[in-house]
Amino acid sequence: MPNTQSYAALSATSALEAYSFDRRNLGENDVQVEILYCGVCHSDLHQAKNEWGGSVYPMVPGHEIVGKVTGVGNSVSKFKIGDLAGVGVMVDSCRTCKNCQESLEQYCAEGMTGTYNAKERNGTGITMGGYSTQIVVDQRYTLHVSPKLDLAAVAPLLCAGITTYSPLVFAGVKKGMKVAVVGLGGLGHMGVKFAVSFGAEVTVISTSPSKEADAKKLGATHFLISTDADAMKKYNSYFDVILDAISANHDFTTYLNLLATNGKLMVVGLPIESPKVQPFSLVTNRRSVIGSCIGGMQETQEMLDYCAEHNIVSDIEIIKMQDINEAYTRMLKGDVKYRFVIDLASLKS
Ligand code: NAP
Ligand code: ZN
Ligand code: ZN
Repeated sequence: MPNTQSYAALSATSALEAYSFDRRNLGENDVQVEILYCGVCHSDLHQAKNEWGGSVYPMVPGHEIVGKVTGVGNSVSKFKIGDLAGVGVMVDSCRTCKNCQESLEQYCAEGMTGTYNAKERNGTGITMGGYSTQIVVDQRYTLHVSPKLDLAAVAPLLCAGITTYSPLVFAGVKKGMKVAVVGLGGLGHMGVKFAVSFGAEVTVISTSPSKEADAKKLGATHFLISTDADAMKKYNSYFDVILDAISANHDFTTYLNLLATNGKLMVVGLPIESPKVQPFSLVTNRRSVIGSCIGGMQETQEMLDYCAEHNIVSDIEIIKMQDINEAYTRMLKGDVKYRFVIDLASLKS
């Protein structure tokens, strides 16, 4: 069994530390990937600290994985040794329910198997994520990555990318539409890039005045501070789509009021508390609140191919594995532009 070096949380309150474990042996449909880079998602922090409940320890987080194929099972046709490969938020699902058959595996009737902190479907243990030197994944849940793009900056596409691409596509974002992205973090900055590339007029709504220049650089036309009630009021009933990528507790009503007729609040942020929704704000303009979870395998590949074609990657800061605890502290302060990516070479040396 391939011995793997990693960083793990051993409890909800402990810092992440070096940890080694064995990956499963290569099955006939499995691909073995040497992990080169792994993005740091706010969901890693939520789960390492058990903010959603149900966390299992030791936990090796990480679901924005890119690397090189180092082994393939006998029945693998999709990959060969030496190929680049990506692994995102899920590594399995039931494969037979309606959603799985329609490549909406993230909505699998039995629940998808997360890349970490999830029970393996064959009962062999708990999945371990990408803060590690290698991973073994069924080819059905492994993605092709273009060599055209900067590999480290591709890693965040596997979660932050697909999580913002999918709801914008679902909401039909296109040229001429007015889109706001709330929360300019890892997800938010990808949301801005996609909405701009789809031709929309994009506004960033933020709590951080210091991010205005970046928002404009990313292609946003307007920049709003959510606590500036007067500025916000000017955009009442203005947007067709608002993408909510806030990681902390907040009120939906503030943003609902900004939606035009049939406007959609696409929610991807996953804070702990139930948000407030004022029914009057919902019935006005026939507004809706729609949640969205990552994207299916097919759509994730489509997003990666779209990014290769349009030269879209994440804005990143590369860190060593040993710096992960400091990175979590900085992420909580909003001090990241706009995604930390771990260089796994730091764990191999
Ligand atoms: P992140 O990089 O930490 O960004 C979150 C952003 O939220 C911050 O940059 C900040 O933007 C804003 N924010 C923080 N505290 C706030 C507050 N008190 N009030 C208002 N805004 C605040 O996090 P991320 O990795 O992008 O993840 C965002 C959320 O999406 C997390 O909850 C994560 O778990 C969730 N997520 C969901 C899915 C899914 O499938 N639905 C997938 C991945 C992640 P400003 O400085 O601009 O205000
Ligand atoms: Zn994520
Ligand atoms: Zn299923």
